[in-house]
Amino acid sequence: MRFATAVSALDIVSEVLDPEMPMVTLDDLGIIREVTQHDDAVTVTITPTYSGCPAMATIRDDITAALARNGFDDVEIRTSLQPAWSTDWITDAGRRKLVEAGYSPPGPAPRRTSGPIPLTLTIRPRAVICPQCRSENTQLVSEFGATLCKAHYRCTACGEPFDHVKEI
Ligand SMILES: [Zn+2]
Repeated sequence: MRFATAVSALDIVSEVLDPEMPMVTLDDLGIIREVTQHDDAVTVTITPTYSGCPAMATIRDDITAALARNGFDDVEIRTSLQPAWSTDWITDAGRRKLVEAGYSPPGPAPRRTSGPIPLTLTIRPRAVICPQCRSENTQLVSEFGATLCKAHYRCTACGEPFDHVKEI
C-alpha cells in the first residue's frame, strides 16, 4: 500500500539517469512522453533516442527498477516513435549538465521529413565549441567517439579531447 505523500511516478521516471550519459536525466533528454498512474499501475511512454544506441533496453530496465524501488510493481513501458526524438528536445538544464561534464552539447538538429531517421553516418561539418575553454578552434578526431551518438574532438587551443553529442 502506498502513502498519499509518496513521490509521483512521473517524478521517479523524470529522475532516472541516461545510461550512456549519466549526468543527464530522462527528463533532461526530453524522451518522456507520458506517465499515467492508476492506483498502483503505471504506464510510461518514452521516445527512443538514437536508433543506433543500445541504451533503450537499459533505460526500460532502469525505469522499471526505479519505480519498483518506490512501490510501483505494475509497470508498462511503451515507446512512441512519432515524432522521432531529436537532440533539440534536450532541455537547457540538460545541455548545461553536458557542458559541466565536459561534453559539447548538440547544435540545432538538421531539418528532416517525417519518419524514423537512422543515425547519420556521413560526416557533417559543424561548429563545435570546446566545453573546457569555450574556444572555437576545435578539430574533429573521429566521427565516432565513446559511442555512436558522439563524435570525438580535440581543442587546438587548450589541447583537451572531448566528445560532442551528435545532433539528430
Ligand atoms: Zn579548449
